[in-house]
Amino acid sequence: MTERIYSTDSYAAEMSAEVVAADRDDRRVLLDRTVFYPGGGGQPIDQGALWVGDDRLEVVKVTQDADGVWHWLDEGVPGVGTQVEGRIDWERRYLLMRTHTSLHALCGVVWDWFRSPVTGGNMEPGRGRLDFELPNWDPDKRGPLEEALNAAIARHHPIEVSFLPRKEADADPSLIRTKVNLIPKSIQKIRVIDLVGLDRQADGGTHVKSTAEVGQVKITKVQSKGRGFRRIRLALNNPKT
Ligand SMILES: [Zn+2]
Repeated sequence: MTERIYSTDSYAAEMSAEVVAADRDDRRVLLDRTVFYPGGGGQPIDQGALWVGDDRLEVVKVTQDADGVWHWLDEGVPGVGTQVEGRIDWERRYLLMRTHTSLHALCGVVWDWFRSPVTGGNMEPGRGRLDFELPNWDPDKRGPLEEALNAAIARHHPIEVSFLPRKEADADPSLIRTKVNLIPKSIQKIRVIDLVGLDRQADGGTHVKSTAEVGQVKITKVQSKGRGFRRIRLALNNPKT
């Protein structure tokens, strides 16, 4: 299994690692540890490269399976036992961390206002969207929601990462409402992201340490998706920091 550095240290942009499996047909390597996020929960995969000495190998795709995290390369597959250096595109990843965190803040505010859990979402660097069931909400009133969201972000909520035993997670009310029950029963340690006092979810993605790092956001669009579902789109006001 690959040690997932991003899971405990989202600010790590580089790593040294060893190739533990090499698949020449698919041009991919499994590493013993990685900072590359393999995608999931609406957060896209990281971009970046591996180095063997001075040779740069572009990482074109990152995937995960029961064996760990696979790094797909454009050319040249180093053999098992090779030491590699890896580095992600940090500017892009950090923007994704801020974006991802802003979406949690939106979940927290919508829950606070409407008691509606999120039903889906997706993001790109700097913007994202979440879906909620909000049959009685007038989408033209998005101004007040944006104000409440920015007020919440401006309270500088710290973000804590923890790993809960499955039993505890299954009994945690905030995790129940965010569908912890859908995580396969074989997973016995649940990673929990807590925007302390605002939002708490089982989540595998990468986030910043405080909502202070997100900056202010705007709700760019609210779309009706039928049967009372609303898709709320937001964007960071300052994608560059
Ligand atoms: Zn998250």
